[in-house]
Amino acid sequence: MTAERLTIVIAAFNEADSLPVLHPRIEAQLDALARDGIDAQVLYVDDGSRDATWQVMQHLAAADRRIALLRLSRNFGKELALTAGLDRVDEGAALILDADGQDPPELIPQFVAKWREGYDDIHGTRMEREGERWLKRVTAHAFYRVIGALSKTPIPADTGDFRLLSARALHALQQLRERHRFMKGLFGWVGYNRIAIPYHRDPRMAGSSKFNFWRLWNLALEGITSFSTAPLRLATYLGLLTALVAFLYGVAIIVKALLWGDPVAGWPTMMSVILFLGGVQLIALGVIGEYLGRLYDESKQRPLYLVDSWQPASPARPAHA
Ligand code: UDP
Ligand code: MG
Repeated sequence: MTAERLTIVIAAFNEADSLPVLHPRIEAQLDALARDGIDAQVLYVDDGSRDATWQVMQHLAAADRRIALLRLSRNFGKELALTAGLDRVDEGAALILDADGQDPPELIPQFVAKWREGYDDIHGTRMEREGERWLKRVTAHAFYRVIGALSKTPIPADTGDFRLLSARALHALQQLRERHRFMKGLFGWVGYNRIAIPYHRDPRMAGSSKFNFWRLWNLALEGITSFSTAPLRLATYLGLLTALVAFLYGVAIIVKALLWGDPVAGWPTMMSVILFLGGVQLIALGVIGEYLGRLYDESKQRPLYLVDSWQPASPARPAHA
C-alpha cells in the first residue's frame, strides 16, 4: 500500500535560534502522522541566511531521514523561498509553516483532517495577532479590505501562508511562474475546495520579524498590482474628472472675460491650476510606471531563484512502518 505523502515546507531566513526550538515540535507531528498512515516529511528551505541556519539544518537532517534540505544561492525573499520549496514537492500534498513557531505545528492534525475530507486549500486564519504593534494590525486590516475590494481573485482576510495544499492544488500552483509573487493571491487564484481554520497566532519564539514596515508596504503594492488593474482605471477616471472640471472652468473664464473684460490678474488661480494638473499627471504616470516596471521584470524571463544545494529526504519508509 502506498501511503499518502505530506511534505511540510518551511522557509527560513536567519532562523538559527528558532529552528532548534521548532524542530522537536515538528518531529512530534511527523511521528503522529506516520502512526496515522501518512508518509510525512519536512523540507527546510534556507533562504540565503547569513547566520548558522544552514548548519543547524544540516545538523537536524543528519539525525532524521525524513528531512530534506534546500539552500538558495542568496536571499530571495519568503515568497520565492516558498516557491522553491513547493517546486521540489513532486508527490502528494504540501503544508506551509513559518520557521519562527508563529504557526503552531500542533494544528497539523486539524489541517490533515480537512484534507482527508477532500479539501484542497486549507488555510489558517488568524483570530488575533499577538506580539504585533497596533500600527501593523491597523494597516494589515486596511490592506485586506483594499485588496478585497480591488481584486477579482478571492483573497481571504487575515490569512497568512499557513496552509495545506492538496496534490492538485499544489500542481496548479507550480504552473504559475510569475516573478512578482504575491502568494496569498496565487493561492486564491488556484481555487478548488477551500476552507479556513481559525487559529491563534503565537508570538515569535526567537529572533525578530524579517518584515519591517517598508517591506510590508512593498508587499502590499505587489499584491495590489499583481491582482488588480484598478489603479490604472482609477488614473483614467481621475484624468477624465480633471479634464471635465478644467473644461467647465475654461468656459467660466471665457464667459467672464466676454461679459466683464479681462483685467490682467489671476496669477494665483493660474498657479494652482498648473500645480494641480502637474500633480495629477505625475500620479497617473507613477501608476503606469508601477505596472510597466513589473512588465519589464517579467519580460526578462530570468529563473525565479537559483539553488545552491539540494538534499532530498532519504527514501521515506519511516522506521516504524
Ligand atoms: N523568511 C524567508 N525569507 C525572507 C524573510 C522571511 O524565508 O527573506 C521566512 C522567515 O524565516 C519565517 C517566515 O518567512 O519563517 C516569516 O517571516 P517573519 O516571521 O519574519 O514574518 P512575520 O511573521 O513577522 O510576518
Ligand atoms: Mg513570524
